Amino acid sequence: MKADRIHNFNPGPAALPLTVLEEIQENLLDFQGSGMSITEISHRAREFDDVINDAVDRTKRLLNLDDKFEVLFIQGGASLQFCMIPMNFLPEGRSADYVDTGTWSTKAIKEAELQGKSIQVVASSAAKNYSYIPKNIAFNSDAAFVHLTSNNTIKGTQWAEFPDTKSVPIICDMSSDMMSRPLDVEKFGMLYAGAQKNVGPAGVCLVIIRKDLLDWIPDTVPTMLKYTTFAAKNSLYNTPPCFAVYTVQLVLKWLEETIGGLENMAAINQDKAQLLYGFMDGGEFYRATAQADSRSMMNVTFRLPNEDLEKQFVEQALANGLGGLKGHRSVGGCRASIYNAVSLEAVEALVGFMKTFEKANIE
Ligand SMILES: *Cc1c(COP(=O)(O)O)cnc(C)c1O
Repeated sequence: MKADRIHNFNPGPAALPLTVLEEIQENLLDFQGSGMSITEISHRAREFDDVINDAVDRTKRLLNLDDKFEVLFIQGGASLQFCMIPMNFLPEGRSADYVDTGTWSTKAIKEAELQGKSIQVVASSAAKNYSYIPKNIAFNSDAAFVHLTSNNTIKGTQWAEFPDTKSVPIICDMSSDMMSRPLDVEKFGMLYAGAQKNVGPAGVCLVIIRKDLLDWIPDTVPTMLKYTTFAAKNSLYNTPPCFAVYTVQLVLKWLEETIGGLENMAAINQDKAQLLYGFMDGGEFYRATAQADSRSMMNVTFRLPNEDLEKQFVEQALANGLGGLKGHRSVGGCRASIYNAVSLEAVEALVGFMKTFEKANIE
């Protein structure tokens, strides 16, 4: 059955590769000759073991992770990580540096403060409405870790390069740009990403931790909030979100086998972003909101001449098969999320529509 699909620019949950959805559909009733759906088999079954191990292996290959790193799958979204990180990695007497680049950073900071942990916000772009990524930050050399948000989904900014924090490990929320480009993992103590933006469906968070950090974790942390619980059991201490992990595995397979890895993915993402920003920069009608050197390759935020036109733009775009273009309710305006699974053709269709809309609405 061929479905009538639209170009999906949703911020999250977001577009998945069509071939992944088709593969799920094809195998939904009978997973690998088991006579059962993947949603019906035990998480202790050999079939599921193969799925989760393959997802871990592919994550390691795609990101060039060596054996220093653990790959974990945890429920509760990126938001649960905001509280688990200080709980696990910020013991009495230590402090951590946080950089505030928008809504999600702010939430991460709040969760550390709620626990009475010692943290310092060493840089913030709040005064300029989070329209840029701070530079030349003075990090504390004795900080336990530095927390960053690599891509600011709502404000449309992204770290083009990560700062040099010397020997202090970076813990990074990569929810909206995980697997969008190659990484120098040496800088990081931990990476995490709610899967529903760029690597799969909602329900699971991909967490990558440098193993030596696991030694920091106090015994008093509750079992289900302790990374060691997940690391010791290959994320199978209790029932994991099996279907979400399976979908992540298929997305990672698509990244490796169809796209050909993160270098290729980054080149495609670059082309998509260039096309959209380049078009907007060439005129006055659409105005990108992020400062040029801080623009996100994943979430392109922009304004039209007035709010009435923005409303019409979003409505008419949808009528033309282009969905999900409304800006976050906290900031207004428009946003095109152009994650990995959004094709260059989809962005070309969007730019085509933008030209038509502009012509029809300019005096
Ligand atoms: C969406 C998002 C989150 C929240 O993710 P949940 O999985 O819904 O908790 C956190 N950080 C960033 C950067 C996001 O884009």
